[in-house]
Amino acid sequence: MSEVRVRMAPSPSGFLHVGTARTTIYNWLFARHHQGKFILRIEDTDVSRSSQEMVDAILESIRWLGLDWDEGPYYQSQRTEIYQKYAQKLLETGKAYFCFCPPQELEEKRKQAIASKIDWKYNRTCLKLSEAEKEEKIKSGVPKAIRLFVPKGQTVFSDLVYGELKKENEELDDLIILRSDGTSTYNFACVVDDVDMKISHVIRGNDHIANTFKQVLIYQALDLTTPKFAHIPLILGKDKAKISKRHGAVSVMEYKEQGFLREAFVNFLALLGWSPKDDREILSIDQMIELFTLEGVNPSNPIFDREKLEWMNGEYIRASKNEKLLSLIIPFLIKENLISEDITKQKREWLLKYVSLFKERTKTLKEFAEKGRYFFECDYQYEEKAAKKHFNSPEAADRLRAYVDRLSGLDSFEKAKIEEALRKLADEMQTKPAALIHPVRLATTGTTAGPPLFDLLELLGKEEVIKRIKKAVEFIQTKFS
Ligand code: GLU
Repeated sequence: MSEVRVRMAPSPSGFLHVGTARTTIYNWLFARHHQGKFILRIEDTDVSRSSQEMVDAILESIRWLGLDWDEGPYYQSQRTEIYQKYAQKLLETGKAYFCFCPPQELEEKRKQAIASKIDWKYNRTCLKLSEAEKEEKIKSGVPKAIRLFVPKGQTVFSDLVYGELKKENEELDDLIILRSDGTSTYNFACVVDDVDMKISHVIRGNDHIANTFKQVLIYQALDLTTPKFAHIPLILGKDKAKISKRHGAVSVMEYKEQGFLREAFVNFLALLGWSPKDDREILSIDQMIELFTLEGVNPSNPIFDREKLEWMNGEYIRASKNEKLLSLIIPFLIKENLISEDITKQKREWLLKYVSLFKERTKTLKEFAEKGRYFFECDYQYEEKAAKKHFNSPEAADRLRAYVDRLSGLDSFEKAKIEEALRKLADEMQTKPAALIHPVRLATTGTTAGPPLFDLLELLGKEEVIKRIKKAVEFIQTKFS
């Protein structure tokens, strides 16, 4: 294969959407697989809908995904002259013509046609003008756009995902390539840039197939061969509708904020529509680079399954080193006011133990600051149902009080000792250990589920555990006094 050059061409009219992120990943993997180039191009020809703020946000998202680019970002808004040069060529070869029709008038006609359910197509009024009429309009400064002349026939291209795709040219309009203000429309700028940037493969969402027919016509008019096209099926929600805000988060950075690891997110998105032809699901970036092919892209629409993303994220969390996890978790803990910015060495060591204990049962980084909140604060409420069950009698308070006495007498607050004290006490009281284990967990965490109890107690520390159990004893006593 000659040099692979692919591009990602986001329009900065919104944040980076998960669908666009997935297309970015495919382009990047394809470039890296073939040791080619990945080019970033900002499609900001629609000035009113673009902003630098959005561009920055998109770049931040691409960086967060860990995808680097080899060229660009190029901005279409800075390339108007190149588009004009190509349009001029088409005028000279008679493949394009000036259109002087006022846009408002055309828009009116288009609306009327839609209202009367008639297919609307530009009626080529300006193609029929005589040279003298054209001269006259140009001289008097009538604003003029440039339209591509769409010849009779059929437009066909071979797509690497969908196979051969065809359209009757009759269904297409003589599309505007340059607006009367001299700016390019999307389809024209896209073709000129793909030519100028020597793009070998255009990999983009299948919502662009309708544009591709128009673009193929532009390539033909310019007498140039097209790049290879690969249209990627759109991601759907569980209800089979195109994924949108209704389905939850759609912008990439929201996933970062929700505590997903970039590696997990990239792995998950890559597998939405592509498979390495076996049932492996956890793939490192290097493995994906090695295995990625466009033949592996499935033409049917993938479904965005958030539970699967969470599962995968959990797998990545468990496989991560505690130091790395801690650095990712710290911002979440600070945001929730659970720790302050200056972390002492001692606190850091404690936090590392917390990470190691909690990572086994965590699906997102954010959960470390949510489900694990009781490690940092003791102002939790006891789960109501559990309190009814475990804090249900004065005897429950007696048992807890007795355990506090035993814990106070411990020289070393190691989990084995904490456990031994509990089992011994249960034995002496002739009750099952569970009669102490559940109330102690509820007393020290407010909840019934979590990491192994004795690890948890060791990490909380003697003083804190005793304080919390005493508080539960008081709670039970006020209930029964
Ligand atoms: N600017 C287009 C978009 O954001 C990209 C089209 C393309 O990749 O050619 O959908």
